[in-house]
Amino acid sequence: MSALSGVGVGRGIAAAKVLKMPEPLAPPGDEPLAADADAELGRVRAALAEVADELTARAVAAGGDAQQVLEAAALMAQDPAILDDVQARLAAGTNAERATWDAYAGFRDLLAQMGGYMAERATDLDDVAQRVVARLRGVAAPGVPQSDQPFILVARDLAPADTATLDLEKTLALVTQDGGPTSHTAILARSKSLPAVVGVVGLLAAVADGQRAIVDAKAGTVVLDPDDASVAAAEAERASRTTAASAPITEGALADGTKVPLMANVGSPEDAPAAIALGAEGVGLFRTEFLFLGASSAPTVEAQTEAYTELLQGFAGKKVVARVLDAGADKPLAFLNDAHEENPALGLRGIRALRATEQILRDQLTALANAQRATGAELHVMAPMIADHEETAYFVALGRELGLTHVGAMAEVPSIAVLADQVLEAADFVSIGTNDLTQYTLAADRQLGSVAGFQDPWHPAVLRLIKLLGDAGAAAGKPVGVCGEAAADPALAVVLVGLGATSLSMSASALADVRAELLTVTLDEARARAARALTAKSAAEARQLASHPAG
Ligand code: PEP
Ligand code: MG
Repeated sequence: MSALSGVGVGRGIAAAKVLKMPEPLAPPGDEPLAADADAELGRVRAALAEVADELTARAVAAGGDAQQVLEAAALMAQDPAILDDVQARLAAGTNAERATWDAYAGFRDLLAQMGGYMAERATDLDDVAQRVVARLRGVAAPGVPQSDQPFILVARDLAPADTATLDLEKTLALVTQDGGPTSHTAILARSKSLPAVVGVVGLLAAVADGQRAIVDAKAGTVVLDPDDASVAAAEAERASRTTAASAPITEGALADGTKVPLMANVGSPEDAPAAIALGAEGVGLFRTEFLFLGASSAPTVEAQTEAYTELLQGFAGKKVVARVLDAGADKPLAFLNDAHEENPALGLRGIRALRATEQILRDQLTALANAQRATGAELHVMAPMIADHEETAYFVALGRELGLTHVGAMAEVPSIAVLADQVLEAADFVSIGTNDLTQYTLAADRQLGSVAGFQDPWHPAVLRLIKLLGDAGAAAGKPVGVCGEAAADPALAVVLVGLGATSLSMSASALADVRAELLTVTLDEARARAARALTAKSAAEARQLASHPAG
C-alpha cells in the first residue's frame, strides 16, 4: 500500500480499479511510404470505418449533448473528401499515418478559417485524426477510456471536450496530475459530485492501468494497492458520506440560528432546476459568459434580455447576483481581448476589458435592467476584477444610470481588500471570488499544475485579505458574500463565515455538505476557528488549526 497526495475536491471517497487516460499521440514521422499504396489505402479506409462505428455506438449510448458531439465526430470520420485526400497523399509517396494526419490537418485549418460555429468544430477533427492514427498504429485511442466496470479515471488533466464523453455512471472518481482546485476538472467534479484529487505530483509515473486505488477527496489522498480491510472501510465511509447529502434541505444557518444564505453558482438558465432542487436560496454568481463564449461578436441587447429574463424567471422570488462579462485570461474572447498580451491574467481582463469597449458593457447592463423590470426580480449586478474605489465608483454609476438598483464589486484583485473600506463606500455589496483572489495573492496561475500547491484559499494571506473585506462590510453595514470555489469546502465555509462572509455561493452539488457543516457550529465558534486559522503560517496549518485548537 502506498499513498499519493494532491488537492482534494469535495468530500467523497471511492475505491475501484484505475483506468488511465491515454496521452495524446505524437505526430507521425514523415518517412516515405514503404508499403503498397492501395493496401495502405485499404488500411486507412478500414480504420476510418472502425472509428466511425465506435463513435456512433458511443453516441447512442451517451445520449444528450454528448450524443450530438459524438455523432458529428462520426460524420467527420466518414467524410469521403478525407479519403480522397489521403489517397492523393499516398500516391505522392507519403506514409499512411502521416497522410491521414495531414489530410485532417488541412480540413481543420479550413474550418478554423471559416470562423464561428465551424471554427469551434476544428478541434474535434484533431480528436478524430488521433483516433484513426491510433488504429493504424495499433495503440489505445486518446480520450476518455470506456469500461463496463466502475473505475477511477487517472489523467494528466481533462479538457472540456473529454468531459462531454465521460460516462458518469461508471466513473467513480477523478485524479489528475495537473490542475488546481479551480481547474476545469475540479469544477466538473464538484458539479457532478464526483470525488477528485487534482495536482498529484508524479501521478502518471506512479499509477498503472488496472491498479486498485482508494481516492479520498476530503483527505486529498490516493492510496494505491489498498488491502481488503481498507477497501471495506472506504466503502462504509462512502455510504455514510452519501447519507449526509440526503439530509433535509433547510435554509443555511449556524447552530445558534445565525442565517447564512446558501446560494448557487450557475453558468446558464438551464442550471436553475437542479440548483433549486438542491436547495439554493438564490444565485450568488451567475456567470454570463455562456452567451459570449464562442460568439464572434457580442450578442444583441434583445438576445441578452431574453436569456437573463429566462434565468430570473427560474429563480422567481429569489435573489440573483449576475456578474457582467469576465473576458480575458482563462476566458478569452476574440472580439474583446488582444490575443497578443504576454500575461493575459494581468492584462485587459474583466472590468478593464469592458471599460475599453464600453458599449458592450452598456448593452449588457441595459439587458440586465430590462430583465429585472420584466420579472420584478431582486437582481444584483457586479463586475469582475475591480481593483479600487475609482473602478467601483465608475461601475456603480454606470449601473445606476442604466436602471440597476443593487450594484457591487467582485473582490478578486488583492488591492480591493486593502482598500475595502473605500470600495464599500461606493458599492452596495462585495462578493469575494476566491479563485482569482488566491491566484493573484499568491501570484500562481490557476490553470497551471506546477503551481497548484499555491492555489489554496486556506493560505493565511488569502484569509487575512478576506478578513479585511469582512470587517469593512460589517463597518459599512453592507453584505460581503463569497462566490469562489472556497465556499464549497465545508470546513473553509465555516471559517469564511467567521471572517465575516454574510452569504456563501457555490456549485449546487456542494450545498448539502456545507449546509450540514454550518449547522454544527455557533457564530462564536466560527469566529474562534477563523481567528486560529489567521495565525497559521501555511495553508496546511490553517486547515489544521481551524479544526483543532493548538496545544
Ligand atoms: C472567482 O474568481 O473566484 C470566481 C468566482 O470567478 P471565476 O472562477 O469565474 O473567475
Ligand atoms: Mg474570477
